Amino acid sequence: MTEEPLASLTITVFTRHSVNCPRQNDPQWKRCKCRKSLYIREGGKTRYISAKTRFWVEAERVARAEQDKRDPVKIALCKFQQDARRKQSRSGMPWTNGTRA
Ligand SMILES: [Zn+2]
Repeated sequence: MTEEPLASLTITVFTRHSVNCPRQNDPQWKRCKCRKSLYIREGGKTRYISAKTRFWVEAERVARAEQDKRDPVKIALCKFQQDARRKQSRSGMPWTNGTRA
């Protein structure tokens, strides 16, 4: 048995075809108007979430957003920006401290 690293992440778009779709045997078919879903394999667990769209490109965008949420670099960058903003507002700007006559 191979241990899966906890940080491993796979997000794949697939199509949940309707029963009437001629392509219902091909989850990777992009061009029909069936609902798209995301397969998320994360830390050894599998999840399926709806992409809430019928367009493959939209679903890919959702997949990318999910990926970004888990990207340690992007998370760190986001936190850094928030910290910087917080620091700025905490120290305040002397010229806005109500000393205006
Ligand atoms: Zn379909």
